[in-house]
Amino acid sequence: MAVRKLDTTAGDLYREVKKGLEKIVGEEWVSDNPTILIGYSRDQSLETARSPNIVVLPDSTEQVSEILSLANQRGVAVTPWSTGGNTGGGCIPQRGGILLDMSRMDRILELDEENMSVRIQPGVTFGKVYVEAEKRGLRNVCPSAPASVSMLANYLDKGVFQVSNKYGVGTDSILGMVIVQPDGTVLRTGCLFQDSYGSVCVEGPGPDISGIFQGSMGIFGVCTEMVAQLYPLPEFEEILAAQFEEDDLEGVAEFLREVARADCSFESLLFQDAYMAMGMAPNQESAEVIRAQLPRQNAILFYGGETAEEMEIRREQLDGILERTGTELAPEGMLELLKELVPWKRVFKIIQVTPRVERLTGCFELFWFNIAMDEVADMARGFMKLARKNFASTDPEAADRPFPYEETTFYIQPLEFGRTCMLEMDAYPNQGEPEGVKRGLAMAAEAIPFICGAGGLFDRPYGGVDSGFGWVQTPMLGNYYELLRGLKRLIDPSNTMNPGRLALPADPAGV
Ligand SMILES: Cc1cc2nc3c(=O)[nH]c(=O)nc-3n(C[C@H](O)[C@H](O)[C@H](O)COP(=O)(O)OP(=O)(O)OC[C@H]3O[C@@H](n4cnc5c(N)ncnc54)[C@H](O)[C@@H]3O)c2cc1C
Repeated sequence: MAVRKLDTTAGDLYREVKKGLEKIVGEEWVSDNPTILIGYSRDQSLETARSPNIVVLPDSTEQVSEILSLANQRGVAVTPWSTGGNTGGGCIPQRGGILLDMSRMDRILELDEENMSVRIQPGVTFGKVYVEAEKRGLRNVCPSAPASVSMLANYLDKGVFQVSNKYGVGTDSILGMVIVQPDGTVLRTGCLFQDSYGSVCVEGPGPDISGIFQGSMGIFGVCTEMVAQLYPLPEFEEILAAQFEEDDLEGVAEFLREVARADCSFESLLFQDAYMAMGMAPNQESAEVIRAQLPRQNAILFYGGETAEEMEIRREQLDGILERTGTELAPEGMLELLKELVPWKRVFKIIQVTPRVERLTGCFELFWFNIAMDEVADMARGFMKLARKNFASTDPEAADRPFPYEETTFYIQPLEFGRTCMLEMDAYPNQGEPEGVKRGLAMAAEAIPFICGAGGLFDRPYGGVDSGFGWVQTPMLGNYYELLRGLKRLIDPSNTMNPGRLALPADPAGV
């Protein structure tokens, strides 16, 4: 994939900015070396690669404040990067400029066992918090994202988890934040309204202003600290696996809705066979072998409780739902295989997401959106039709690759007690192959209008003009979008913070 050339006419400006940054953080934490910058120019998506001009790694809120203030004065764009694990070009600097790598700020500042909360910096991963929380009988939510991604950035980005039906999305677990605004001013929200962190959690006072930073992909400033809720770790956990015929997506929706409404599982998901195999397989070769043994549609539920009795009650509820909906359990052997291959106990990582991508093509074109449970069956069918058209292999040599018949697979996760759900449809075109990129972009061009037109909502509108969700959805948003643009003008008049995201213009005067 070609990387857009650096703007050398801006050389003097960046030489001065680099000196300024070195004064703030020290020389060793600033670089304009192209071989380092290129690492920040792309991600796992099909978005066009674009390089920043400088990367800087701050170590404190004060340093971030000074950096943003400097960038604002010089009109230089700033793209925040916490672990870069987003899968839609969110950290690809649309206008070059400064890449603000927050990974040095990786400290758990406090873990409050009594009040079940944790105070973290942006570089702290889900895995790091999980290990510390578990020692105290607590858990963060189980990320569907890899354990190596930033918990703060994922929460800020409305992360969806395996326990989202029960505990909501990432933003529902935020208790307070410290945010550096585009001009360097520091804003404190919620329980961090004063420097001393207490258990008081207020949204507001008055309207919840902190809401505009959630899901905003850094366009209004940089979050340097967050207090997030933790939850009790259940003592008892078990898995239940059910199976459905290939086309019985209505049956899937009915079963998941009933389970979600009854709130009798910690998590419940429907995986297609290929998705499940990629998560379970220890290596690429065995993924196809495992897939061949799986039912086409698999519902996996984790249930349990504080006591063995509670777990039994949950199981009785689930058995009742299985009976009422006429749902079949998966073959015993499949459950055994799942337990053998996946570190399921304490349900930290059922889907080994990072290997899933790395084992295939290294690229991950995903479409994930919210849709009413009633509509999920038709939507999934329509989407698979498009996937077959765009990805079904016509190349005989591709027959060796895993899942050659269609490089697309999906999962369904009920949310909000089954009123709605998230449908994630993933494709694995190869970024390194022109044909793979062509097919991926053709798929995006058809799938995004189809999803928007059929009532699907991209609540995290990732991506740029090439394959992004926002560019299609935005015109449908009317006044909502105009208000967003107005807020951007107000908070970041020089358009320095992650310009070009959320379908807003990238150029300096664009907002
Ligand atoms: C294979 C794979 C599967 C995944 N599956 C899921 C899933 O099912 N559900 C899910 O929720 N997530 C999933 N994710 C992860 C999810 O995409 C990321 O966690 C999330 O987008 C944030 O990524 P990050 O934490 O690395 O942040 P980054 O990628 O660093 O940043 C994300 C966005 O936020 C901005 N940003 C970063 N840091 C800050 C900050 N401190 N302040 C303000 N803005 C900031 C960035 O500019 C960018 O626009 C998956 C990721 C991978 C790689």
